Amino acid sequence: MTEVAAEPIAEKLAELNLALSPEIHYRLGTVFSRTDSMSLEQAIGQKYPLVKACEPVLLKALFEREQVLFVCLGELRFQKTIVVLTNLRMLLFSTDRKQVPWQPYWAIYYSQISELQPVFMEQYKILLKDGSKLKFNYFPLQDRQNFQPIYSEAAQRVEEEGLDPPVSQSRENLCSNCFATVPKETYECEACGATFWMPFDLAIRSFIWLPIGIFAMRRTRVAIREVLIYLFLLFFVVFWQAKGNTTFAIFTLVLTNASFGDWIYKQAKRGLLLKEIPLEKQAVN
Ligand SMILES: [Zn+2]
Repeated sequence: MTEVAAEPIAEKLAELNLALSPEIHYRLGTVFSRTDSMSLEQAIGQKYPLVKACEPVLLKALFEREQVLFVCLGELRFQKTIVVLTNLRMLLFSTDRKQVPWQPYWAIYYSQISELQPVFMEQYKILLKDGSKLKFNYFPLQDRQNFQPIYSEAAQRVEEEGLDPPVSQSRENLCSNCFATVPKETYECEACGATFWMPFDLAIRSFIWLPIGIFAMRRTRVAIREVLIYLFLLFFVVFWQAKGNTTFAIFTLVLTNASFGDWIYKQAKRGLLLKEIPLEKQAVN
């Protein structure tokens, strides 16, 4: 990894007309770190869109004076996930298809990380103190080269300072509305009153009426597509029924809803999905 001084990066960003939020403390030298074969412009070109896309979430999630050291995009259990290292902790954001951060969100204090474990090719494992693991099926090699030294330095500093906050689990769920920590097995944010879907609740609703699960995840565009697919499927069910093949029609419908309910259940188990935000707190978002 080559850490560049902050000044040339700031100059290059200005030259390229790329602005970063002045309210976020970036360590530019590590956020735009590069390998020896890369130019500064290439490093900025690669990272800037992702960093910029994270800013609305970072503005709400970061503590005062928390500094952003590193941002990259990987795949955690086949779900696109943004990894942010700060001087205090690791933040994880799910993303939508356009790589814009989207719920669920998590935070891991460095004191909760026991080992980084590069696996085969671009796979990567992070072992946590409570025995759980983050299994990245994709963590770009180039980002990994930069990630390790940046993590080690930050984790060592935190250890020297004795920062080991109490947690309910190593990877804490964050409220998707106010970004406060929501303890394990809790579905209401104490800080803002937002509520979250309980996995079984959501799965049952999806089983009964499939699109509700997708709408609950607040991904409207995906939801509309799923509704269209679902209506298409219903059309076939009616078609088979009309042809006298009612058993097959019911079987198809039940199987589809059950497998979708199972998928939704796993999604809601992964992290917190917003159910309701109290009216007076909605401005926070
Ligand atoms: Zn909250």
